[in-house]
Amino acid sequence: MHCPFCRHPDSRVIDSRTSDDGLSIRRRRQCPECSGRFSTTETASLMVIKRSGVVEPFSRDKIVSGVRKACQGRPVTDVDLAGLAQRVEEAIRQTGVSQIEANDIGLSILPELRGLDVVAYLRFASVYQGFDSLADFESVIESLRDDERRLTDVAEPGEDA
Ligand SMILES: [Zn+2]
Repeated sequence: MHCPFCRHPDSRVIDSRTSDDGLSIRRRRQCPECSGRFSTTETASLMVIKRSGVVEPFSRDKIVSGVRKACQGRPVTDVDLAGLAQRVEEAIRQTGVSQIEANDIGLSILPELRGLDVVAYLRFASVYQGFDSLADFESVIESLRDDERRLTDVAEPGEDA
């Protein structure tokens, strides 16, 4: 990091803070040569390890396209998908990891999708959690029903008390 004032090739970090969205780090730097102060914004690199072993840069678009398939025919908008992908990326970056397995991204998508559309969630979960029997579907559907009951209880207090 060259000093923008005297081109000195080194600088000292005097303050650093993570942006509100957790996606970048802003550093306040000082040049040891001329004492000039300047700021830099750095986005940490995040790599994805695919099941094949191939490593590629994290892509929010890939989350959107992956989830969109599960949402076919469901009332989920592009804005919903973009918001989901953003929250997933922020959650991953906030853990501070620089590499993540593709499968772990799928797992962090699940709770977000569950809040968005239960049918899309079931489709997605069946792939990512490797459902191989009706019992797998049944246990997830049962937990979704529990959630629904809890929500109904909150929405209508005292109804059947
Ligand atoms: Zn300088």
